[in-house]
Amino acid sequence: MRKRITMYGVEKMAKRKGSLKRSYVIMMVLPILVCGILTIWFSYHRFTGSIYNEIEKELKNSAYTFLGTYERLRPGNYEEMKSQNMAALMKGSELVARDIKLLETIKDDTGFDVSFFYGELRYVTTLENDEGQKYVGSATNSVIRKEVMEEDKAHFYNNVKLEGEEYAAYYIPLHNTGDKVVGMLEFVANAKGVKKTVNKAVFPIIIITAILMVICGTIALRYAAGIINAFQKINSFLLKVEKGELSGEIDPRTKNRDDEIGQMSKTAMSMQKSIRQLVELDALTQLYNRRFGDKNLKKILGKVGTEGIKASVCIGDIDFFKKFNDTYGHDVGDEVLKEVARTLRKSMAGCGFVARWGGEEFLLVFDKMEVEDAAAKLETILDDIHRIEIVNGEDILHINMSFGVASACVDGKVDASDNVLKRADNLLYYAKEHGRNQVVAEKQDTTEE
Ligand code: GH3
Ligand code: MG
Ligand code: MG
Repeated sequence: MRKRITMYGVEKMAKRKGSLKRSYVIMMVLPILVCGILTIWFSYHRFTGSIYNEIEKELKNSAYTFLGTYERLRPGNYEEMKSQNMAALMKGSELVARDIKLLETIKDDTGFDVSFFYGELRYVTTLENDEGQKYVGSATNSVIRKEVMEEDKAHFYNNVKLEGEEYAAYYIPLHNTGDKVVGMLEFVANAKGVKKTVNKAVFPIIIITAILMVICGTIALRYAAGIINAFQKINSFLLKVEKGELSGEIDPRTKNRDDEIGQMSKTAMSMQKSIRQLVELDALTQLYNRRFGDKNLKKILGKVGTEGIKASVCIGDIDFFKKFNDTYGHDVGDEVLKEVARTLRKSMAGCGFVARWGGEEFLLVFDKMEVEDAAAKLETILDDIHRIEIVNGEDILHINMSFGVASACVDGKVDASDNVLKRADNLLYYAKEHGRNQVVAEKQDTTEE
């Protein structure tokens, strides 16, 4: 019991270790999965990139158009005007805050919020929180300050954070006379809307890619399952051969495949046939050998008695074969054996089977036949044997045989195969002792001669 469990464990481990299914899943499904994920990732980034490019262009155009107009409208420098408890931004002689209506109009037209920075602080803006409070006084971050104000370069950012919200923003440095950078003009678009647009564009791609992945995965797995199934069939066929079961077949669908698997199935089956011939057949006569004959006899005897089935067992022996060999040579003797075997096989067709039992002895088992009928059949077989002509140079040689045939049953009960064989052998001995060239049959319902 312990051994069984251990064996099962080893088998299971081998299954896991060398599992074709697992390898196929890794080899076929994994690349599909990786390609799908890469496609989604790539298209998401391409879309995001191109949408941000569009937004950058729009923000830039709007910002420069507005700045040009504003410079013409309010000529002069930007200056901070400080009173006791507040500071305001001036452009020329006007307060920028007074132009908030203009900024609101820009917002309505473009959808972009506008802010004026002086130094690093937001002085005037259309940006406001949910309660309607403007983000006035908030500072820009150090990166934007450095890249826009210190390096004096207009810049686009797609991830500016303000009060927890994400924005895409375009900054233009603001100059006073002498080209000194004093602040920034900021145009911003809410990133939420951008993300929504991207998601809307990418969503169908995700769905189509996912569907394609499922279709490709299913096709790959089905294909793999077909191959694995075929291999499993060949494997279970070979396992049967290993256990000595030589009558199995490989499923025709696997065997008739027009590929290497079909070829492998055919090779496995012809290998089984070769083994069967080696194990079951006698090399010289191509009849069943003694081992297989004995096995078949036991099989037939196993059925005797059930539902009134009968059987008869005969041992036949060539008469004076030694003399024949001595006179004409061993090779001619072999020809005789082959010819006798061919005749016996032909004559026994439909009656049972014949096996080579020893040198020039043959076992004939009459399936479902009483001794009387078997003996009658043996008389015709003996005639067939007489008709054999062995051509040896100018001579035509003939042979005789003796047969002893016994019933498979004694007193209506099936006898052990050794006993049946012994009874048949005794009858053969009787035939040899009483003139040879004859059939001696057991008297019915007797066990001894
Ligand atoms: P009996 O009528 O009493 O059976 O006489 P026999 O000569 O046939 O019997 P015996 O047992 O004395 O001799 C059998 C001979 O069969 C001896 C052996 O050389 C020959 N023999 C056995 N196997 C083979 C074989 O494979 N080929 C050939 N050519 N001869 C064989
Ligand atoms: Mg003999
Ligand atoms: Mg003999």
